Amino acid sequence: MFEVEIISSFSAAHRLRQYKGKCERLHGHNYRVHVTARASNPKADGMVIDFGELKRITNDLLERLDHHLLNEIKPFDEIEPSAENIAEFIFHEVEQGLGEKCDLLYSVGVWESDTSVARYFR
Ligand SMILES: [Zn+2]
Repeated sequence: MFEVEIISSFSAAHRLRQYKGKCERLHGHNYRVHVTARASNPKADGMVIDFGELKRITNDLLERLDHHLLNEIKPFDEIEPSAENIAEFIFHEVEQGLGEKCDLLYSVGVWESDTSVARYFR
């Protein structure tokens, strides 16, 4: 099995509505996003997927979140903007962006800090 991963980032604010504690108050993170693709065999060109294509799709999406209050953006106006939910959202958006290559997408990890990550897998 081969795995490739691209790393990107965005900065945003959020507030966890259902949390009791510090995170219910408005605060921000410099999120790091790891997007991983897997395949048992590389294609004829020797690649699982072009890093550039995965970066472009991911960065186009993260541009929509960057420097926003996540609670005001769909779907986080209705669901909690937790790292878990952000990871699932990014996964499904990147999956859509990949089109017929969507099966290659394996996981999305969203890092809220250097020591805290939530990952979503298919
Ligand atoms: Zn937070």
